Amino acid sequence: MKIKLVHIIKASLASVVIISGLGISSIATNVHAATTTNKVTYFKAKNKVKYVFVKSATKTYKDVNLKKKPTKIKINSYYKVKSLKKNKKGTMVFRLSNGKYVVAKKNTLGKVTTNIAKYLFDKKGSTVQLTKKLYVYPDVKFVKATRLSPLPVDTQLKITAVDWTTSGYPRLKVKGGYISSAKTAVKLVVPPKPAVVINSTNAINQYIQQNYFKKNAPISSKIWSKFPKNKYRKGAGKPEGVVVHETANPNSTINNEISYMKSHYQNAFVHTFVDNNNIINIANTKYLAWGSGYQGNQRFVQFEQVRVHSKDAFAQEINNAAYYTAYILKQYGLKPSLATSKGSGTVWSHHDVSKWLGGTDHTDPDDYWKQSAKTWYSTTYTMSDFLPVVQAYYNSL
Ligand SMILES: [Zn+2]
Repeated sequence: MKIKLVHIIKASLASVVIISGLGISSIATNVHAATTTNKVTYFKAKNKVKYVFVKSATKTYKDVNLKKKPTKIKINSYYKVKSLKKNKKGTMVFRLSNGKYVVAKKNTLGKVTTNIAKYLFDKKGSTVQLTKKLYVYPDVKFVKATRLSPLPVDTQLKITAVDWTTSGYPRLKVKGGYISSAKTAVKLVVPPKPAVVINSTNAINQYIQQNYFKKNAPISSKIWSKFPKNKYRKGAGKPEGVVVHETANPNSTINNEISYMKSHYQNAFVHTFVDNNNIINIANTKYLAWGSGYQGNQRFVQFEQVRVHSKDAFAQEINNAAYYTAYILKQYGLKPSLATSKGSGTVWSHHDVSKWLGGTDHTDPDDYWKQSAKTWYSTTYTMSDFLPVVQAYYNSL
């Protein structure tokens, strides 16, 4: 049975209002609806609701008893459900995945079909392409008699909204009406990512861009369990940047350097070694290493470059070093920026640590970079040249 609502009743969502004279319980929270069913029904545990969509405007609250921070939620928006529980007043309430609560009332919320994975339902603003001939309908009901002429395969359409049928199926609103959201009928058009370029005119960076960018070595994990595990100053797994080193040993290989470090780790060790063909991670980057003095160690992930001896090998090594730096920054939620005298910034040379944090006096990798750049490229190479390569990798990850 349906009744006409005479007034807009500004009542709490949970309250039950008696319409005088009729003796029927009802709740009016929706100013749009001219009619509503006379019986308020709530979702129950057995309904196994995973997602709900909003049938008529309602509110979410910060607390299960629906008092704190009421926030309007829009018709046709949808929410993931975490749980369904009864509050103090005995009202059934959904806890949503965003941490908020909403009355689990069937008048205002609809259960999304359990087959939702077969539909595109979170793509408002995106473009879809039809994978079969598809009809456009004037509303979400898809009544055959009302449908408009079909659109050919491969038509691309912009999704302006996603609306729901009463039984919880999403329909895509496009120009002129609604189309199916079934993944058998439409596919998402993914715009191509613009090519990432190294924003630098340095000759080595240009050479990397042309020959080696995104052809970096993979990171091989060869974690040695005997390295001590000490937390960074902000805690385990909270480094604040990366320090670039260079071994200053012209006659060694990456494997020799690694085995030497393992046998002398009580003096010094770093997390990772890089050369032209390898990125080898030997110590867990969640914990600090001992490579740049007390100040640097408690802040940064650290890697060594092994000396290489040709034009291409040097470009490849810088390329691997930049990739690894970007990878670590991304992993720990940091953004690439040059070290500063005030101690900020995420991309540091050992020399920067010596200058601006202290506790160490090394100046690597300055000389190695300078000499290599001069010998093979007749140019210079500094941390300011290294940063744009890191940034380009960071943008591509
Ligand atoms: Zn160093």
